[in-house]
Amino acid sequence: MKMNIDFNKYADGLVPAIIQDASTNKVLMLGFMNQEALDTTEHSGRVTFFSRSKQRLWTKGEESGHFLMLKEIKADCDDDTLLIKVEPMGPVCHTGADTCWNETNEQDDFLSHLEQVIALRRHASPDESYVAKLFQKGINKIAQKVGEEAVEVVIEAKDNNDELFKSEAADLLFHYLILLNAKGYSLKDITAVLQQRHK
Ligand code: AMP
Ligand code: ZN
Ligand code: ZN
Ligand code: ZN
Repeated sequence: MKMNIDFNKYADGLVPAIIQDASTNKVLMLGFMNQEALDTTEHSGRVTFFSRSKQRLWTKGEESGHFLMLKEIKADCDDDTLLIKVEPMGPVCHTGADTCWNETNEQDDFLSHLEQVIALRRHASPDESYVAKLFQKGINKIAQKVGEEAVEVVIEAKDNNDELFKSEAADLLFHYLILLNAKGYSLKDITAVLQQRHK
């Protein structure tokens, strides 16, 4: 397909290129291209940007081997932005995440870390561990605690103190994880239920 990209639209001769996964349709990253980068991408089949920080052509994956294999290039309605569909050879973000908007991964990891800590602390001495003390009191007490924290979240939601609201929301999440553990479940079992409903 012949494209007439307007490289003079923006002062530096670059146009934005949105990178999308050809099979999942996830938006993976955003880069910038000049005419040479676009030509190189088309000829090599590997997405190549003009890197503003490096001030040179940059083939994504040149160090990591995680190339973006070209599937399709589309110009937008007024020829000043590219949509490039690719098959990624590995994680796209330099942080190691699948996409550059994937910070939820880190949060999931932290919550599973917290679950592991809870699983370890439940066997500690109740004198020195709050978690162990809760487990000693039994599942009814743990469930009651979740209820109390939920009520505190409700109360703080009505106030205008964001710090207190966040603090109570954190308390609720923490005790919720403890309750899941006490029932023999982990967060994954519950997200699986949500994913099932989502289908
Ligand atoms: P790569 O091209 O994947 O071999 O990565 C080479 C370098 O490019 C990395 O060390 C980062 O500085 C940078 N880089 C890699 N991926 C991205 C990205 N998605 N967005 C911005 N910079 C990146
Ligand atoms: Zn446009
Ligand atoms: Zn990134
Ligand atoms: Zn609380």
